[in-house]
Order: sequence, then structure tokens, then C-alpha cells
Amino acid sequence: MSEKIFHGVPASGGIAIGPAYLYHSQGLTVSRRKLKPEEVELELKRFQEALAKTRSQIKGLEEKAKEKLGEEHASIFSAHQVLLEDPLFTEDVARIVSSDHINAEFVLHEALEKFKTVMASLNDEYFRERGGDIRDVGNRVLRNLMGKGDKEELKKLDKEIILVANDLIPSDMVNLPTETIKAFCTDVGGKTSHVAIVSRSMGLPAVVGMQKATMDIHDGDLLIVDGNKGLVLVNPRPHIIEQYRHLKEEYVAFQKSLEAFKNLPAVTPDGRRVTLAANIETPLELDDMARHGAEGIGLYRTEFLYMNREENPSEEEQFQAYKELAVKTGDHPAIIRTLDLGGDKFLSHLNDSEEKNPFLGLRAIRLCLKRPDIFKIQLRAILRAAAYGPIKIMFPMISSLSEVLESKVLLQECAEELKHEGQVFRSGIEVGVMIEIPSAAIIADILIQEVDFFSIGTNDLIQYSMAADRGNESVAYLYDPLNPAILRLIHMTVEAAHKAGKWVGMCGEVAGDPQFIPLLLGIGLDELSASVSVISEIKKIIRMMPYEKAKEIALAATRVKTSDEVFEIIRDNVPAELKAILF
Ligand code: PEP
Ligand code: MG
Repeated sequence: MSEKIFHGVPASGGIAIGPAYLYHSQGLTVSRRKLKPEEVELELKRFQEALAKTRSQIKGLEEKAKEKLGEEHASIFSAHQVLLEDPLFTEDVARIVSSDHINAEFVLHEALEKFKTVMASLNDEYFRERGGDIRDVGNRVLRNLMGKGDKEELKKLDKEIILVANDLIPSDMVNLPTETIKAFCTDVGGKTSHVAIVSRSMGLPAVVGMQKATMDIHDGDLLIVDGNKGLVLVNPRPHIIEQYRHLKEEYVAFQKSLEAFKNLPAVTPDGRRVTLAANIETPLELDDMARHGAEGIGLYRTEFLYMNREENPSEEEQFQAYKELAVKTGDHPAIIRTLDLGGDKFLSHLNDSEEKNPFLGLRAIRLCLKRPDIFKIQLRAILRAAAYGPIKIMFPMISSLSEVLESKVLLQECAEELKHEGQVFRSGIEVGVMIEIPSAAIIADILIQEVDFFSIGTNDLIQYSMAADRGNESVAYLYDPLNPAILRLIHMTVEAAHKAGKWVGMCGEVAGDPQFIPLLLGIGLDELSASVSVISEIKKIIRMMPYEKAKEIALAATRVKTSDEVFEIIRDNVPAELKAILF
């Protein structure tokens, strides 16, 4: 076993040492390809081969199950063999490939999706279960067609591992057995991809954008993941492991020392107070929030409530989830962001799988305004929960004034309906919008007239300003928060809010990056919202950074032309004891 070192994007801090486990996502990305007439025969042969391979895999599983569990438990696999004889597999796919000249995996995937929708609509337990079985079999055929391995499900892991995957989509992430995972490494992704965000919120080290992690690393390799530097060491020598054990202890001790800041306010030495709030994805993180001293929630990504299920959450279910938020955050505000589906957060029953550019498509508020039936259920639940605590509402992906106005009309409609029904709810809830599309930053002075606050989403603001897909490691170098173009948009947004006497926060990942804090303070942000795991560190920095000096940094940064110069201004102007921590 030879030692190797790989570099990636440092996505979540910390150090982990442990065996690699290669994970192949259950969610397959299937693309459509038009076949040339001469390719059709080969495609049909490929499909038949995938069917044959599936048959033999199921046979193998059946025999294993018989041996280990007994005859009756193996019957599920005999049933799967029978399902493979369903006309869906034996006739439909081949017929469409021959007539439409489309690749087999796409045809099969489409057929399975249709099947899934029909089965889900039948209110019959038996058919639902059969639907699940045929999807299992179908996915197995798909994996074989696409040359993907046949993997045990991640949920069943019982030992500690470091997870290595090509990509982890948000729906994979919410299903992970967090007790057994010590770190993540992925081929794709940048600092603001969802695998990065979720690993930070779990407090687990992650290196993403490694490009070939799944090729270079094998199951069982011993890995050191250094999420601070973006390094992954494969099968390191014993003295290197020893060195990293020490580094890990130091890191843990540093994190522990931050606990002293838990109950202190986020205030600069010269008295500028900012609100330091948490970004959360699931209510499970609420307990950690208090442990890290967050002052409320600056961003609750509600789309995670909608994932990994066949139907959308009901008004009652959402009401209960938001009420828990209101109650647990106490007197602190909790900002609930309305549904941001689309982009890479995709639900087959809501999003259109054929969108060519999902990040530029029917995402977030665009989808909600097109589907007021779904949107209003969420708005009603939020208004009802707001009766139990200081909940605020925030609309994502706003690009024009009309979207704000339309959303407010729907919110008002919901309030009137609730009033009419005699329900308990809060009227006059504070409404904010995310500034994460350049057009919104440019018309911030117009938008602010209609809302109570702004929250800057730098993940998307940078993605859309630089035209660089946030999940694509090849263009990760363009993710540059210090680029003067981005800083100008942030300045414009802050100025517009303050001129109107309103507050402005930031909830993109930039707000959780220690090196940027002095600049953000100086630009005048009133609130910073970041992953729970970095809150104490950010608080420590704020408490060491004089506001007057921060303002000088922000002003000087407006006068230079490149991000390197901005970086130097920050580095050279923070107090020496802060410089020692940050640079
Ligand atoms: C952002 O875009 O910066 C943001 C906070 O939203 P999300 O990461 O959920 O798109
Ligand atoms: Mg966003």
C-alpha cells in the first residue's frame, strides 16, 4: 500500500483518521442521449446484458439469503426475479429505444418515474409495496447499465468510516448515519455545494472537489482527512499518522477553548454589536445551537422537510416543525426561508427533470409562485407558528420587485384565510428577502421599500455573478468572495438597507469564514448567520476586531482592483493577535 496525498477544496474544518468507505449514491443522474441509427442495436444488446447481470446478482442474493436466513426470507428475491419479467423490462424499454433512438438508461429511468407516480397515487398498501420492489429492481438494472457498483445501503453501516463519494446530493445527506461517519471526501463540489454546507452543520471534516477521489481511493484504505487544509492522505506512514493525531488533539482543544465564548455577546472591543445567528437544515440542530451560543436562526432551509418522501409535508406537520423552532429559539428570532427547491435540491414530483439548466430554472420562489397551492400551505404553517415566537419569513431567489409583491399578496391571502377560519396566527410578521441574484442587489433600493430586512446569500450571489456553477469543481476557482464585483454588490445592498433604516444580514457561507469577518464587520452587516459549528470561532473574532479598524479595511478594499489586494488589506490591518489566528 503506497502513501499518496490528494488536494481538494477545504469544505469543513477538522481532522479525521479512519478507513475509507466508497459510497455510490442511490440517486442516479441519468442523462438523455440521442442515438445514431447504427447505435440502436448495440444499445439493445447493452440493455439485455444489464438485465442478465441483474438476474445473476439477484440469484446470488437469493442464495446468500437462503444460506444465512432460511428459505422464507429468500422469497423476496424470487419475487424480484419475477418482476424482472415484467413487460416494463422485457418489452417497453426495448420498444422505445428502437422507435425513438434514445439511450436505454434514460428510457428506463423515465418509465420508472412514471411508474412511481402512478403507484404512489394508488391508495393501497399492497400496490405501494410492489411499486417499491419494482423500483428496487429497476434501479439495479439502471446501475448495471451505467456501470455503477452494487452497494450495500449506507444506512446499514455499523463501523466508523470516512465516506468517499462522487457526489452526495442533499437527499443522500439527510439519510446518513451520522454516528458512524467521521468525514467526507467527494470528487465534485465547491465550498458552497450542499455536501460542504451539510458537513459543516454536522461538524464533520470534509474535503470536496477532489475530482478523482472515488478512483484513487479504495474501500478500506486508511485515510487522514484534513478539512482545514483540503488534504487527504491515503495509507500514510505511521509517523505521519502520529503527527496528525497530535494536530487533531490541538484542533479539538482549540474548539473546546471556544466554549468560553458561548454566553458572551458578539460585540467588538469598541462596542459595535452584531447578531450572530445559525443556519440550520433540520430541527435536530436546534439543541446544538444553544450549545454554541447562537442568537437565533438566521436561515432555516425548509426544503429539507420536503425531501426523501413521496408527498409534501402537510400544513399541520410544517406547523409543528416551525412551532418547535419558535419555542426552542425563545426570545431570539428565527428566520424561516420558504421553499428553495430546484437547482441541486430536486424532488421528482415537483421539479421538472428535463430542465437543461436547473440553477437558472424554476427554482425557489419561481417554483412557489407557479404552484401557489403548495406555497400557501407553507405560508399558512409559518403564520400559525409565528404566534408562538418571533418568527420572520424570508423569500429566496428574488430577482425582481414583482416576485416580492406577488409573494406578499399570497402571504396576505393566507393571513385573511386564517383569520376567517378563526385560527391562531400572527399578523404583521416581518418579511425579508434573500439578496442572492445580482439583479436583486442592483435594485436593492427598490426592494427594500417592500420588506423589513435583507439577508445576503453569497453562495448564489457569487455563483450567479461569476456565472460559475457552485457545485462544479472545475470552476471553483471563480468562487471568490473578495472579488471587487462581489464586494460592490454587497456594499450596494447594505447601503440600500441602511438608507431605508432597515437591517441587513448575511447567511451565505462567506459569513462563516473567519478570514472575511473583519471586512464584513466594516461593511456594516448587522447580522451574520453561519453553520452552528463555526459560531463560537466567529464570535471570538468579532470580540477581537475593533469596528473602527474594520471600517478602514472596508473602505480601503473599495479602492483596489483585485481580490489579492483586498486579502492583503485584511491581513495587514487586523490586530496582531487576530492575525496570528487568521493568517
Ligand atoms: C446562499 O445562496 O448563499 C444561501 C444561503 O442559500 P443556499 O445555500 O441554500 O442556496
Ligand atoms: Mg441560495
